[in-house]
Amino acid sequence: MSAQIGVTGLAVMGANLARNFARNGYTVALHNRSVAKTDALLAAHGHEGSFVRTETLAELVDALERPRRVLIMVKAGAPVDAVIEALVPLLEEGDIVIDAGNSHYEDTRRREAALAAKGLHFVGIGVSGGEEGALLGPSIMPGGSRASYDSLGPMLEKIAARYDGVPCCRWVGTDGAGHFVKMVHNGIEYADMQVIGEAYDLLRSGAGIGPAEQAGIFTEWNKGELSSFLIEITAEVLGHTDARTGAPFVDVVVDSAGQKGTGRWTVVSALELGSPVSGIAESVFARALSSQRDQRATARQVLTGHEQQVAVPEGFVEDVRQALFASKLVSYAQGLDMLGAAAKEYGWDLKLDEIASLWRAGCIIRAELLDEIMKAYAGGDKPANLLFAPAFAGAIAAAVPAWRRVVATAVALGIPVPVFASSLAYYDGLRRDRLPAALTQGLRDLFGAHTYRRTDAEGTFHTLWGGDKSEIEAVDTH
Ligand code: NAP
Repeated sequence: MSAQIGVTGLAVMGANLARNFARNGYTVALHNRSVAKTDALLAAHGHEGSFVRTETLAELVDALERPRRVLIMVKAGAPVDAVIEALVPLLEEGDIVIDAGNSHYEDTRRREAALAAKGLHFVGIGVSGGEEGALLGPSIMPGGSRASYDSLGPMLEKIAARYDGVPCCRWVGTDGAGHFVKMVHNGIEYADMQVIGEAYDLLRSGAGIGPAEQAGIFTEWNKGELSSFLIEITAEVLGHTDARTGAPFVDVVVDSAGQKGTGRWTVVSALELGSPVSGIAESVFARALSSQRDQRATARQVLTGHEQQVAVPEGFVEDVRQALFASKLVSYAQGLDMLGAAAKEYGWDLKLDEIASLWRAGCIIRAELLDEIMKAYAGGDKPANLLFAPAFAGAIAAAVPAWRRVVATAVALGIPVPVFASSLAYYDGLRRDRLPAALTQGLRDLFGAHTYRRTDAEGTFHTLWGGDKSEIEAVDTH
């Protein structure tokens, strides 16, 4: 029996994707470096569909129809290269190698070029939705060649999540585009969680509302424009009581969060692209600060806050909801803007409406808002920034008064709100007639002869700061 797809790497994600393919009627050849995982999967779930057990990569390749489709789901990094190296000599022209793990898009670009030179397709696909998504329907962001998608796409679309019957899987662009889009998705996910955390902290430390009561507030919020998976599970986590102590669960969890993965990659890449994703960056830094537990302990002893004992304004809960919504919108706007910058840099034809549509179901940032975002980019007249789309320009404008009150209150009370505040600064920075970058340019010209442009004349100029301070035309060094 020929299998339509082979999966190598049967830890939780690979196993669940393999089961998802099998449950959708495909025959799936199974392989794992240690055979025990293959056998465990077959013992527990072999009845769910049609599987072919293999022990070696050669057996896996032999089990597949042509062109072969081999999906790698091993630990990201060197293990992916090791598997590719062992696999490639066994394959033939036109075969498709798929990496569905969380690989860095630059690795995917390198691997795609190397395999293309051998006549093989290499497809990096971003998969979001965690273990459950992999089994029941993830959001899938495939890159690689268009030709490989013709062969692979229908299978991926079959196992993907659906929104209104539409699969959350579409070819997003060549080589590393799929992994890039997944990386930015994860960056937005960091920001989404951070703004929820800031709202929780404001309600708790500012308004004195405990976790159980907040669970009810988040449940309410989930019925409106904030409706999303992350708001839904926030209510669940805040409502949970620790069985061991009877305390709110959130109070027994150590308050430091890791930040080593795709969030960090997003920020590094944004810095290289010159893309102002301040909300995502602040989210990554907030996790980094949370992990500096020793410094935090010392800071509590030696640093003074001079907090003001202001009362939270009336309607504070609703203000916080609006500030959360506005900050979240900014994070999405920044992430999508970064996708636009990457499209230019890497020659990808990224369609923001289609990408937003992929995130509507199956993935961690799934939200009602994404349907609106998709519509904002769907017409012929695409906004240069999500916030300029009429629906969002109006929505964020309506939230601005509450947003300013919340940030001002947080500052007075000494509650850190890095994403609420930086998102408002981004919003104000975008709108500002004159930015102090003019002064920055003046300083750069004085200390480094970096030159500047004038508001009233074409060309590039330099002032002879060390001489008579006259101005000369200069070569453009911007
Ligand atoms: P994982 O813990 O990242 O990796 C374990 C798998 O990799 C095992 O099958 C292991 O084989 C195999 N492996 C490791 N080194 C290998 C090598 N040198 N050669 C061959 N096989 C090797 O597994 P996972 O959690 O299922 O994640 C897989 C990928 O999906 C990762 O890229 C991850 O970042 C990504 N991802 C995970 C999630 C999630 O929720 N877990 C969500 C989205 C994406 P042995 O059994 O023989 O050790």
